[in-house]
Amino acid sequence: MADNCCAPIGVEDGCTVPTTNVTARCPACGHKGKPVDTQTVKALLAVSLERVQPVAYFFCCTSNCPVVYFSAAGQQTFTINEVRERVHQKEPQANDVFVCYCFRHTPGSIRAELLLTNESTIAESITAGVKAGQCACEIRNPQGSCCLGNVNAVVKHERAAIHKYLLTLSAQGYLTNWYSPG
Ligand SMILES: [Zn+2]
Repeated sequence: MADNCCAPIGVEDGCTVPTTNVTARCPACGHKGKPVDTQTVKALLAVSLERVQPVAYFFCCTSNCPVVYFSAAGQQTFTINEVRERVHQKEPQANDVFVCYCFRHTPGSIRAELLLTNESTIAESITAGVKAGQCACEIRNPQGSCCLGNVNAVVKHERAAIHKYLLTLSAQGYLTNWYSPG
């Protein structure tokens, strides 16, 4: 398993938030967290902000770990039940959990477009929205940064899943003269 699953985040669109060189490991799963601005933690918590401490917080993106945010020394954690949004990284296959929190795209909406058109225009539309100053990743996305890397990964995953499904149907003789998988 990758040591740091948060690495491939889109940075080419200019929608990034400052990061530090500090590293910390999630006290629950042991994987490296991604530094996250305290403003993001405050925006996403579903519990009283009296619990927020003047410490550095990190985001845990391990899918089977309930911790969303943890403090640098690991003495404090906020879990999936203590944040206002369902978190894409915790439920990467869920159809109805946002992967893009600013423009409200989900794996389900990405798959629907692929099935209808065999194309995905979502990354382009997000980039256009970012350029138009319409995004608010720091306060809407639990990871506190641009979603584009995650969106591209979902598009790739969904495209592969559809292709695999059509190959299965084709092998069973259902798609004669209709679809020839490349
Ligand atoms: Zn964790």
